[in-house]
Amino acid sequence: MAQTDSPPPASPSTARPPSPAGPDSALLAELAEASQRLETAEPEAIIGWAVERFGSRLTMATAFGPEGCLILHWLAGIAPETFVFNLETGYQFQETLELRDRIRDRYGLTVVYEHPETTVEAYERQHGGPLYRTDPTRCCGDRKITVIRRVLSRFDAWMSGIRRDQSPDRAAAPIVGWDGKFGVVKISPLANWTKAMVWDKIVREEVPYNPLHDKGYVSIGCWPCTRAIAAGEDERAGRWSGTAKTECGLHLRE
Ligand code: SF4
Repeated sequence: MAQTDSPPPASPSTARPPSPAGPDSALLAELAEASQRLETAEPEAIIGWAVERFGSRLTMATAFGPEGCLILHWLAGIAPETFVFNLETGYQFQETLELRDRIRDRYGLTVVYEHPETTVEAYERQHGGPLYRTDPTRCCGDRKITVIRRVLSRFDAWMSGIRRDQSPDRAAAPIVGWDGKFGVVKISPLANWTKAMVWDKIVREEVPYNPLHDKGYVSIGCWPCTRAIAAGEDERAGRWSGTAKTECGLHLRE
């Protein structure tokens, strides 16, 4: 039985949607031109372009990382009606769940939880224990990828908070591009920002952030697959530590 507290998206905008069969050459050319033009734009201008272009067919996914919180800070002033969701795997830190409430209290934005088909208890019973220990790729597939695919099928474009300097996988992320994995346009307003720029803005604007960041956790995902890192370690070294896995798959390019 699917669990969800997500309402259907608002009525479609008049923006020309991408073709369900994939992007046509005109759309790809438009995205390439927009991405190049927005490369030197401020994130707020990029968000504004996305809102203008896709209207209610735009959504945003956030795991409540610092970048996502910063985008929400801007989005609240640009288009607070945008459908924003979080992949609630059932394994998130309590501090992460509480940050959702703090965002709502500060900005009046409700980030909708999107759940997998099964509860953690049922999932672990079904697999004879937690799959994050034995097959984290399958676990991410079932509890994140399947869910985001379901959500994005209702939209034409999504925004994420990835930065190019986070990992080699993300280094080539355009500001605007076609996301072939999910068949939608992907907008990354902070793609060319650095970690220092993000934190500088968060501190100056007093944007709510996850208190775990003050305890050595740099990149925060599900609690079983996240640890604090030591000085000098790579930013994402605390994710799936001790395994070859570096990404849940949401941002891997196809
Ligand atoms: S990050 Fe870990 S617990 Fe979360 S979905 Fe992936 S494998 Fe499962």
